[in-house]
Amino acid sequence: PTRVLTGITTSGTPHLGNYVGAIRPAVAASRTPNVESFYFLADYHALIKVQDPARVQRSTLEIAATWLACGLEPDKVWFYRQSDVPEVQELTWFLTCVAGKGLLNRAHAYKAAVDKNREAGEDDDAGVSAGLFMYPVLMAADILLFNANQVPVGRDQIQHIEMARDFGQRFNHLYGEHFAMPEAVIDENVATLPGLDGRKMSKSYDNTIPLFAPRETLKKLIYSIVTDSRAPGEAKDADTSNVFQLYQAFASNEETAAMRRAFADGIAWGDAKQALFERIDREISPLREKYDALIAQPAHIEAILRDGARRLRERYARPTLDALRSAVGLRDLS
Ligand code: ATP
Repeated sequence: PTRVLTGITTSGTPHLGNYVGAIRPAVAASRTPNVESFYFLADYHALIKVQDPARVQRSTLEIAATWLACGLEPDKVWFYRQSDVPEVQELTWFLTCVAGKGLLNRAHAYKAAVDKNREAGEDDDAGVSAGLFMYPVLMAADILLFNANQVPVGRDQIQHIEMARDFGQRFNHLYGEHFAMPEAVIDENVATLPGLDGRKMSKSYDNTIPLFAPRETLKKLIYSIVTDSRAPGEAKDADTSNVFQLYQAFASNEETAAMRRAFADGIAWGDAKQALFERIDREISPLREKYDALIAQPAHIEAILRDGARRLRERYARPTLDALRSAVGLRDLS
């Protein structure tokens, strides 16, 4: 079977972007035949950005409950918390030792931090942790540990998958064929959703619409989306509108076409936002009910996560690391 791997960082409350970009397509894909799916809560990754233990814990619970509410079946897929599988860290070190530092210097996330420092007239590496710098190696370990073949990602992540291939290839070259080469899967139909301020919706930007916000909050947030000042009756440009982009991510093709005409005909922003709210709420409402029930049972969620990690370690992670330890010349712990 094809192995598909998806992770969500436990850095905050899951939002509409995570749902449209990762959760909805991943749950649908897990139901296609001949696919073995891996879903994980990326809490080692969260530590790069969030140093607030309560936030990481809360986010872990929320993201786990979200996956389950959206239809993930934990006995049919691998569903686990990254830090419950410490083999990820052991592999990270093995890969660190074959990763070219020059390649990591060119990673987007690191370069963006350096560029920002330069603009501010600071030293290149001011405030940059080695964790941020090494992030592509941790991500490579997530992927290579399970020989995932396909990793659905946004465009900004293609480079990291290429790095995972690079590290895997170097390791294979030195120590024998241990890793399959992963491929980035870009779904052209999956949009990157804008946040309330127009930037990419992201947990780290505090510009999100939480997926399971109570109905009234959802409405309030949708009404707060930034728009231009065109009056009712004035034609509006659908292609540059955040409201339209969000609508499109939830609506059918016919609904989207009708909304595009309404924009050209000068729909009032209030009416467009009301339509957006209703469309999203229609899809989310039944899931929200499940989510509210799940989030009230943290012990149940915890048991599912632990069981997933236990089985995954036994089946893949530990045997793989035993083989890798022998391959590089360390003692096999088994
Ligand atoms: P962080 O700010 O901590 O990076 P994030 O909210 O930007 O968090 P991640 O947890 O890094 O998102 O990403 C989880 C998944 O959600 C990824 O597959 C990513 O492509 C997808 N995703 C995140 N934000 C969006 C968005 N605005 N639109 C579409 N997909 C998104």
